[in-house]
Amino acid sequence: MAGLVPAIYVFVYCGEKGANPGARPGMTRRDAFMSTTLSEEQRLMRQSCRDFVDDVVIPFIRGDWQREWVMTPEERLPAEILQGAEKVGIRTLGVPEEFGGIELDRASEVQTFALIAEEIARGDSGLADKLVQNWKVSVLLRNLAPRHLQEKWFKRLVDDPQFLLAHCLTEPRGASDRWLPYNVPEAAMHTRAVKQNGEWIINGRKQFISNGYDAGLFVVYANTNPAVGMLQGTSSFLVPRDTPGLTVARCNETVGCRFMNNGELVFENMHVPADHLLVEGDALGKAAVYFRPGKIIQAAKNLGVGVRAFEVTSDYVQNYVQGGRILIKHQAVALRLADMATRIEAVRALLERASKAVDDNAPDADTLCNMAKVFASEEILKVAQHALELHGGNGVMLDFGVEKIFRDAAIFLHMDATVDISRFKIVKSMFPHTAGKYAGPEN
Ligand SMILES: Cc1cc2nc3c(=O)[nH]c(=O)nc-3n(C[C@H](O)[C@H](O)[C@H](O)COP(=O)(O)OP(=O)(O)OC[C@H]3O[C@@H](n4cnc5c(N)ncnc54)[C@H](O)[C@@H]3O)c2cc1C
Repeated sequence: MAGLVPAIYVFVYCGEKGANPGARPGMTRRDAFMSTTLSEEQRLMRQSCRDFVDDVVIPFIRGDWQREWVMTPEERLPAEILQGAEKVGIRTLGVPEEFGGIELDRASEVQTFALIAEEIARGDSGLADKLVQNWKVSVLLRNLAPRHLQEKWFKRLVDDPQFLLAHCLTEPRGASDRWLPYNVPEAAMHTRAVKQNGEWIINGRKQFISNGYDAGLFVVYANTNPAVGMLQGTSSFLVPRDTPGLTVARCNETVGCRFMNNGELVFENMHVPADHLLVEGDALGKAAVYFRPGKIIQAAKNLGVGVRAFEVTSDYVQNYVQGGRILIKHQAVALRLADMATRIEAVRALLERASKAVDDNAPDADTLCNMAKVFASEEILKVAQHALELHGGNGVMLDFGVEKIFRDAAIFLHMDATVDISRFKIVKSMFPHTAGKYAGPEN
């Protein structure tokens, strides 16, 4: 599976090594950024993930840059990659041990999610997306699903290395209203669930769903009471892929994270058994167990993309010669490299603080996890831009791989709420009694 490194990449390193015999490809400063407070379990997990990424994921990505652009989504990511994730024990994090999962220490679970998400995203952000949806939805299910459904679906997830989960909130209209939230009846979800003859009939559409194209099991949100606001009138359901009336309408062709297979779903008189209801009425409030780790994991994946940008760039500037010296000896280049390292370190510091706050259920957890998400998405995009520029023309050549890092970084501005909406949430959580509603009339 590990294909050959494209000739152009080899050329840069081989060509410039003579100019700078002391520098080696792969000699980066990654470990300088690592926290020193990890448990033994976290260190071991991080190391096996790092080995998996270095030995399998990065060679796969670098081996065939066109693979990402295969327009048959089923053929993009070979089954061996998810099997590899299974082997290192990171596919079913969040699943309780009694159902066959690998249970993390709950006191530091979100911090461990962050650590692993970063490592995987360093290899490929789309693969990280695929995996983290399983973790986040598993946390939701272990908190909210009835036991018989946990027994059934955790088993399916654990038994099948290709099995994926998805969380379906976003609709063609009003996604930001959900995040704000804009809690009035007219802003309710358009997807409607009505109880009839002991089962739920659901009609509507969900878009932009991570794993939406591939998942075997979906958590779907729908309006069950149009007379009230979404915080009171939204319910969640567990929907298996083969449910009558469910159609996976398409795989969205995204600018980055392309191995994730983002999808769109249509529900036409979809029949869901009554016992597949997860939460009636206040499903959005109860989903906090999903949203908080979700923001942390977004920031962590984003950090992994930044670390990769720094790795390839620091290698490049220590090997590539312009003006009679390697790039790093040009002061303008050194300044940019310092800027990249500083931004990465700042994102890491905030992320560590925010992920601990979520694990501790601290009063400022909401504020911090939104801050980490916003800060990471903006800072790492700047890191990726530096990478793009410091590679010169190579930076924008598809086969060189650096532009992929830039594309992957751009996606984070939009995931788990936009940057602007997340900023609103920061202020709202800091000043709950005085900050505005940000949507609809004040009253
Ligand atoms: C790669 C990817 C993966 C995703 N995965 C999932 C998933 O797994 N599950 C899921 O449910 N969703 C998912 N989403 C959807 C994501 O959460 C939404 O795209 C995001 O919340 C923004 O919603 P929107 O695209 O509808 O933008 P809109 O809500 O239409 O916003 C458009 C613009 O208006 C601004 N805006 C909106 N309202 C206000 C306001 N009141 N004041 C000021 N500005 C405002 C926004 O900031 C934005 O700039 C994913 C999206 C992407 C891109």
